Amino acid sequence: MKKEKSKAYKKQSENAKESIKNYDQFSMSENRNTNLHNREFNSNASYYEEICSTKWKDLRDKNYKDYRNLWHEIPKLKKTLDFPLHLDIETTNVCNLLCPMCPRTVLLADESFGELGYLTKEEYKDIIDQAVEHNCKSIKLNYLGEPLAHKEIIWQVKYAKEKGILDVMFNSNASLLTKEKSKELLEAGLDNLFISFDAVDPHEFSIQRKGTTVGKVIDNVFNFILLRNEIRPSCQVRLSMVMYKDEKWQRQFDALKIIWANHVDALGWGYYIDRDIKNSIYFSEVKGYHCAQPFQRMFLKYNGNVTICCIDDKDETIVGNWREEKLKDIWHNEKYKEIRRLHGTGNYYKMEMCKKCYMPHS
Ligand code: SF4
Repeated sequence: MKKEKSKAYKKQSENAKESIKNYDQFSMSENRNTNLHNREFNSNASYYEEICSTKWKDLRDKNYKDYRNLWHEIPKLKKTLDFPLHLDIETTNVCNLLCPMCPRTVLLADESFGELGYLTKEEYKDIIDQAVEHNCKSIKLNYLGEPLAHKEIIWQVKYAKEKGILDVMFNSNASLLTKEKSKELLEAGLDNLFISFDAVDPHEFSIQRKGTTVGKVIDNVFNFILLRNEIRPSCQVRLSMVMYKDEKWQRQFDALKIIWANHVDALGWGYYIDRDIKNSIYFSEVKGYHCAQPFQRMFLKYNGNVTICCIDDKDETIVGNWREEKLKDIWHNEKYKEIRRLHGTGNYYKMEMCKKCYMPHS
């Protein structure tokens, strides 16, 4: 059984590696602009987005708008707050799917993913209590796992909202998003749902989202949207897909728009990029660049590791362990300070992980 699993994972990994070949190597090109001259500071992780509706935003209060303002201003000014504005919490690293482009699938194939598990109630409570004590504004309940695979997801959303977290969100493949769960999540106070929806064509979808079907996910998402409109219209719904160079994927995105544009709040995509950390493939330096994430947010992984950004799926830059240290102490420790100092002084390229990151080029 173990052997079969490992074989399946290896196959997934090969697929993932094959799809890298299709990735548009625009960032590696000599012709790319490697100077920040005339480029605006980008405070969000890079993805292409088309806004379909802003109704949800009009329903948010001033506190939310002030917080979003800080989200842009703090990293732009390279300021260090007392505590991160946002925490990414990997409530579980379990997922019900095995998508070929997902770093989780590739790590499983390499047999380097580590132990699977779920945060306990006590652990989750402790994280949220620390966040609330230090005025943290928002949380995202995932990293490499599927948050709906955690049986306490409804309680987790409710607890965070009741404690006063302004913006609670997660990414999901939506295959476990039953009608009942949708209703409970909205009643619990979910503020944003970001759905990975990779193709309209049923065959392509079943390859990209291995383990579910397009019909099931369409059904789940439509039900969620109908309930959202009724129960919690301030909850934002965004759909996004992974994009490759091949034109067929652009056509899939066009088809996505036809189906979803009148129903969701935003549609987007991000390029598929595999960071080959073993072979140290570096992107060229972008002079004057600094990254927003070390100033905005902190990532808590199920395995206890704390890292600085969404890119670090391979635990390359670990700044602490949330099971052993207070979150505020980690945020202000020497390693984290040095990372912010490097970014704040235009020296991001001295960091091994950042040299291998496409973000400065996006
Ligand atoms: S690797 Fe560096 S540049 Fe890339 S997202 Fe992380 S901190 Fe930012």
